[in-house]
Amino acid sequence: MTPRRLEPGRLVIASHNQGKVREIRALLEPFGIEPVSASDLGLPEPEETGTTFAENALLKAHASARGANCVALADDSGLCVAALGGAPGVYTADWAERQWFEGEPGRDWYMAMGKVEGRLAELGPDVDRSAYFACTLALAWPDGHSEVFEGRVHGSLTWPPRGKLGFGYDPVFVAQGFDQTFAEIDPEHKHGISHRADAFAKLVKACLEG
Ligand code: IMP
Repeated sequence: MTPRRLEPGRLVIASHNQGKVREIRALLEPFGIEPVSASDLGLPEPEETGTTFAENALLKAHASARGANCVALADDSGLCVAALGGAPGVYTADWAERQWFEGEPGRDWYMAMGKVEGRLAELGPDVDRSAYFACTLALAWPDGHSEVFEGRVHGSLTWPPRGKLGFGYDPVFVAQGFDQTFAEIDPEHKHGISHRADAFAKLVKACLEG
């Protein structure tokens, strides 16, 4: 079936994660789309009860499309570590405990990165450190229609964490062909090669170009 086109105008970014919202906003800007985030609209965050990235992305996109009565874009993403059988995967955010930072709710990503490193250390010094970030983007319309796109970026995990840019697990992820972590490279550069950029390129080809 031909993918449904995304028309210029308002679109809700179905996320309360400021790092993701910032990246998706930058990706959408050149297409005449007016992104507004689910948190700006005060939309509730649905519970991520799915067992795949696609199920969770669709859940979030449909909830925002219904709540705002306009097209919504959700991202479900995570870090998949080969030696850990693909963990933390869909549970990537859950590996970071919820905390308060200067009065704002957030998660402790340093603790989460330490947890991944701890599990790898248990497997010995020669453990395979390869990993990839996966991203599933789901577009949902208020009439219930949806489109799904998947992207990946392969690389390996380094320790200790390096860099202050980016978000989440960026300080421990080095993409294939790079020496610097995702938190050390310029965000523009990350936007060009990331799992989100890969999924977004597929979305653009299917729903915005032509
Ligand atoms: P969820 O998609 O909201 O369940 O959260 C996925 C989690 O994966 C995020 O909160 C981040 O910690 C992590 N993650 C996803 N994409 C990236 C990325 O580009 N860099 C670093 N961490 C990421």
